[in-house]
Amino acid sequence: MKILIIGGGFAGLAAARELSTISRHHSVTLLDRNDFTTMLPALPDLAGGKISASALKYPIRKLVPDSVEFKRAEISLIDPVKKEVLTQTGTLCYDYLITAYGSRTDFYGFDQNPDALYTLDSLNSAIRMQRDFRHYLKTSAQPGLVICGAGYTGLETAFSLRYLAEMSGCSGMSITMIEAGERILPFLSPWLHGYVTDLLRRRGITVMAGNSVSEFDGRCVTLKTGERIENAFVCWCAGTRRAIEISGSPESLKDGRLRTDAYLRVQGYPEVFAAGDAAAIEHNSSFLRKSVNFAIYSGKAVGRNLAATVTGGRMKPFVPIDAGWVIPLHETAVGRLFDRYEIRGRLGLRLHYAMCGLRSRSLRNGLKFIKTAVKLFERGGTWHLISKQGF
Ligand SMILES: Cc1cc2nc3c(=O)[nH]c(=O)nc-3n(C[C@H](O)[C@H](O)[C@H](O)COP(=O)(O)OP(=O)(O)OC[C@H]3O[C@@H](n4cnc5c(N)ncnc54)[C@H](O)[C@@H]3O)c2cc1C
Repeated sequence: MKILIIGGGFAGLAAARELSTISRHHSVTLLDRNDFTTMLPALPDLAGGKISASALKYPIRKLVPDSVEFKRAEISLIDPVKKEVLTQTGTLCYDYLITAYGSRTDFYGFDQNPDALYTLDSLNSAIRMQRDFRHYLKTSAQPGLVICGAGYTGLETAFSLRYLAEMSGCSGMSITMIEAGERILPFLSPWLHGYVTDLLRRRGITVMAGNSVSEFDGRCVTLKTGERIENAFVCWCAGTRRAIEISGSPESLKDGRLRTDAYLRVQGYPEVFAAGDAAAIEHNSSFLRKSVNFAIYSGKAVGRNLAATVTGGRMKPFVPIDAGWVIPLHETAVGRLFDRYEIRGRLGLRLHYAMCGLRSRSLRNGLKFIKTAVKLFERGGTWHLISKQGF
């Protein structure tokens, strides 16, 4: 059998390890456009100059089992009908495929001066953001940061670049966040929502909700409501979508995630499995959010189920465990643990860096995050932990 795994991120690597049980008897190849894997949750830290790029990357080759082949390849299209994937250098065919290609920035059709917009969805995008933002601060008399999208990536980016501006001796920068929804982070409880909006106000970050960018000439932003922001550094953090196009119209969500069955097979294509950000996994009448833990667990599950399929064993339905989420906001954080405890303050921040450390692929990288989790960037501050029942 010929098995291809697309993506050497959290999900693809977890699947590759599970497939080591069969890779001595079957051809298993992992494909990625890069020869390194990236700790994506730390991209805002890298953009803000808090952590070096070397702490976020690790060679894929060192992480795949010896019996799994690694090939560097940029994939442009998956054809599940012909069972082929198109790469820059040719076509590869498969008997079984694992799609674990993550996601990329969604511009929702906005195509004005894309080269002057900054995104945060890869190591290189974070390096570019930091480098150009430093230059922008040096050369702008009245710097103004505009963030399109006030979800978790937008907020993390705003706080990280604000920190970088402060460290560069620039305290008068305006920060405007443009949010198409009527309310930022609508899933937050009133307790956490009030905390975040108060923090944004205290840090001088303006949120324009119910608004969007209608024009961008490369420097000047014009909003739907007519306001103009001159000479801006513009970051696009408005959402993500499927990283690779797929022919044959498999059943997908609006953002391109592939609908899966209980065994994480793509609906209509039983020889294609999906994991991580590539998969739309239904759970409790909703879909799992994009997260490191779900990517690792679903990656393991597709690896095990594919191995069972090939060897004639029994597949097991995927049952996710939700440990919760944290949104880091430079010196503080908000989050929810085990669907029960809401947290705000430094505990969440420590948990975030501890997660990055524990999920790092090398001891050296892991220790950098663990050290940050212990020390954090500023001294002082408090942390709070509160039970859901109290509110
Ligand atoms: C800025 C940011 C902050 C985040 N913060 C958190 C957080 O705090 N906590 C949390 O749990 N989650 C967070 N996430 C989400 C989390 O990082 C993802 O859910 C997780 O990385 C998904 O894992 P994956 O393996 O599906 O995809 P990825 O980790 O993205 O891996 C996909 C792999 O596919 C490869 N690939 C993509 N396209 C192609 C192509 N065309 N050809 C070849 N290879 C390709 C990529 O190079 C990559 O190696 C964050 C994400 C971002 C962008």
